[in-house]
Amino acid sequence: MKLPTDPAENLAALIRCPSVTPAEGGALTALEAMLKPLGFAVDRPTFSEDGTPDIENLYARRSGNGPHLMFAGHTDVVPVGDEAAWKHPPFSAAIDNGEMYGRGAVDMKGGIACFIAAVARHVEAHGGPKGSVSLLIAGDEEGPSINGTVKLLEWAASRGEKWDASLVGEPTNPDALGDMIKIGRRGSLSATITVHGRQGHVAYPHLADNPVRGLMTLVDALLNPAFDKGTKDFQPSNLEVTTFDVGNAATNVIPARATATFNIRFNDTWTDETLQAEIHNRLDKASGRKKYRKGRKEPIEFELVWRDRPSHVFLTRNDKLIDALAGSIKSVTGRKPKLSTTGGTSDARFIKDYCPVVEFGLVGKTMHMVDERVPLAELEMLTQVYQQFLADWFG
Ligand SMILES: [Zn+2]
Repeated sequence: MKLPTDPAENLAALIRCPSVTPAEGGALTALEAMLKPLGFAVDRPTFSEDGTPDIENLYARRSGNGPHLMFAGHTDVVPVGDEAAWKHPPFSAAIDNGEMYGRGAVDMKGGIACFIAAVARHVEAHGGPKGSVSLLIAGDEEGPSINGTVKLLEWAASRGEKWDASLVGEPTNPDALGDMIKIGRRGSLSATITVHGRQGHVAYPHLADNPVRGLMTLVDALLNPAFDKGTKDFQPSNLEVTTFDVGNAATNVIPARATATFNIRFNDTWTDETLQAEIHNRLDKASGRKKYRKGRKEPIEFELVWRDRPSHVFLTRNDKLIDALAGSIKSVTGRKPKLSTTGGTSDARFIKDYCPVVEFGLVGKTMHMVDERVPLAELEMLTQVYQQFLADWFG
């Protein structure tokens, strides 16, 4: 039987499945067809929740005696955008000048294709790793992320699955394969502040109370001073005001209320709780300030509403995992990867509750773009990195 040892063939089969979130698009069926001959037991649970589309996911495990490594990723892709703008149709997996074109080529069907090829080569050469390998593949990472990784982890754990380490195959390299491993992620918090004033005529301000002044005072207290200077492993925490709204079309009316929304990406100086407490503290203090208006008697009347679910900050400190991956990258690519915690959040933030997790995949330059594509040579190189990693980590 022919095993799926060729990453380009694996990737072509996956790209040809139009799995734009929330559609399965045939991608999980294609994965299952690759995994079964390698000895994986495959499950495809569908999860539901009111207000979001049902999502089919995949969990596959190849059991062995020894530690358990989980590879995590997603087969769903973002929409293609202007299809006519693509040099080659986005679900054709066309090869042009040594590069394969298609939505998901780097984010992240390519990473999955390489990992499967690496396992297949290991099975072919040595009969498979000395332990268990599983794939945890979500179908809604690019969408609401509600019926994917979080529920799949809970589902697998409730069936007794335990992992010793996880590798996420998202594109982590900014420029060249081997640039960067992600060993943690910043946390994220969002909130909306509303300041209540009293509406009135701009020519009679003593009869009104302008909430814009109050909101400026409060926002200023969040922007200054900086929350921290950064830590050994993380850049400084950063707050961005994303909206500042009054919704007042008239030039002669003092508005009744003003709102601002902000997001903070924070480092390991903080937890969600300590940072939320710091923000409440700053706002409470600032609400008594008279900075923007002399003679103010009452404190600024405001309310703060936290938005979305917070993302927790995390840092992986597992030398065996990090050293095995960094060493494999060095030996295949010749590059010493930077151990980084930059960028947005990823599904690693959910996996870290179950086992140590690191992220390494392709070069991210064309992800989500028109003409998303990957050099075939890079697919081969990533497959070799994963192969070496499997050999080293399982020992
Ligand atoms: Zn992705």
